[in-house]
Amino acid sequence: MPGSDPAEPGAQPGTLFVVATPIGNLGDLSPRAVEVLAAARFVVCEDTRHTRGLLTRHGIDAELLSLPAFDEPNRVAGILERLLQGHDGAVVSDAGTPGISDPGEQLVARAVAAGVRVVPIPGPSAVIAALSASGLPTGRFHFLGFLPRERGASVEMLEEVASLRASLVLYEAPGRVARTLALAAEVLGPRPACVARELTKLHEEFDRGTLPELASRWAAREVLGELVIIIGGRQAAGRWTEAQVQEALLRELGAGGHLKELSQQIGRVAGWPAKDVYRLGLLAPRPKPEP
Ligand code: SAM
Repeated sequence: MPGSDPAEPGAQPGTLFVVATPIGNLGDLSPRAVEVLAAARFVVCEDTRHTRGLLTRHGIDAELLSLPAFDEPNRVAGILERLLQGHDGAVVSDAGTPGISDPGEQLVARAVAAGVRVVPIPGPSAVIAALSASGLPTGRFHFLGFLPRERGASVEMLEEVASLRASLVLYEAPGRVARTLALAAEVLGPRPACVARELTKLHEEFDRGTLPELASRWAAREVLGELVIIIGGRQAAGRWTEAQVQEALLRELGAGGHLKELSQQIGRVAGWPAKDVYRLGLLAPRPKPEP
């Protein structure tokens, strides 16, 4: 690797600092982060031009090594070699905390496995910023990152977490937010939710409502900027009463749904075990067959 010194026999491995950087507001880079970046022998980053800009603002002229998301596995070995030679290095991503839907995860895992000390320098991350101001329960949350591109895989992932009594946090691209809100409304029902846009920036915005309300509002607007979606967990949505479950069953059975599948779907949204919904469904008046 260019610029690397030969390994000193018996040298102690260096330290890898995982440094959070701003997600918008440049004032959010901590003094400790600046200190660590200035002292590091090299800084691993996603886009060298972007990180060069940030470092130059703070008068730091560090050696930059690029770690793009698509090539992380191949680049890790060279970086690890530098650390094992005894050099301290830092890893940053373009914004926020490295490894959180960003490169860094594999570098950290391999560094830990190789016995390198890994030290976090905490700071901004969109998941925590959005959740902390959402107004939704923060005691338990489940971070999903970006949903898969394919509808089927996204539905599967949402179904997998539908029964969790924890707020759900998703990252999303502006062009897909309305579709994702509609899909979440379909799978999770009318739960309370919040869209957090442009956090820490000039046009920061929080839009709160139920998933169907948000889906229709965001379908009707041109969406720019970066977004996080926070959705209340099963507990936040509240357990449906028997009358509500009965009403949903009658409606869906009337529309031609099958009791077994409906029991699962309604159970998930209503916070009821599927077998209890099924039992209620057996008592429901059957729709008359078409003459
Ligand atoms: N590592 C970053 C972190 O710790 O937040 C996340 C990087 S991920 C590639 C980018 C996604 O994070 C965006 O698509 C958006 O969902 C979210 N995000 C990043 N900055 C944001 C901001 N200022 N406001 C809202 N969401 C943001």
